[in-house]
Amino acid sequence: APQQKTVKDYIRTIVDFPHEGIMFRDVTTLFADPRGFRMAVDQMLHPYAGQRIDKVVGLEARGFILGGAIAHQLGTGFVPIRKKGKLPGKTISEAYTLEYGEAIVELHDDAIEPGETILLVDDLLATGGTAEAGIKLVERLGGKILSCAFVIDLPELGGRQKLEAMGMDVSVLCE
Ligand code: IMP
Repeated sequence: APQQKTVKDYIRTIVDFPHEGIMFRDVTTLFADPRGFRMAVDQMLHPYAGQRIDKVVGLEARGFILGGAIAHQLGTGFVPIRKKGKLPGKTISEAYTLEYGEAIVELHDDAIEPGETILLVDDLLATGGTAEAGIKLVERLGGKILSCAFVIDLPELGGRQKLEAMGMDVSVLCE
């Protein structure tokens, strides 16, 4: 019998994107496949069965696609963390360093109530800088992060260790 495809089998690698020397892990092929997308969403939820989650927080942009589907399945609300200048209401912001320069992410200052249990979602964990900024934003509003869930971890970049050193629970579907 043919082997069932795994989440990893649906992820495509684009060489030299966004610049030379980078192997970009492209999840659009995972999201575009009906089995692949459902499998990813179901597997990201699986560790938290029976646990209380008040809100799903997704990181722009692919964290919105996963986070929206996960929130729908859980029956929770969804909250976006966006790049600077995109959210219309009053925001709090965090800066973090990129390979070249700095980026800023923002969260509406009324999007999370103190004590709410949060699942943080993104497609890929690399250095952990983006997720760390997201964690700080959620915690500044008093949110309690149950876990940070990703489709892919690039282990050589140390993101998982960075988040775990902050006391975070981290779950990934593949490396
Ligand atoms: P980090 O902040 O270094 O952990 O980078 C993670 C962020 O960059 C996430 O928001 C990812 O969506 C994005 N990212 C970095 N590398 C890749 C990749 O190869 N594929 C897809 N997204 C990536």
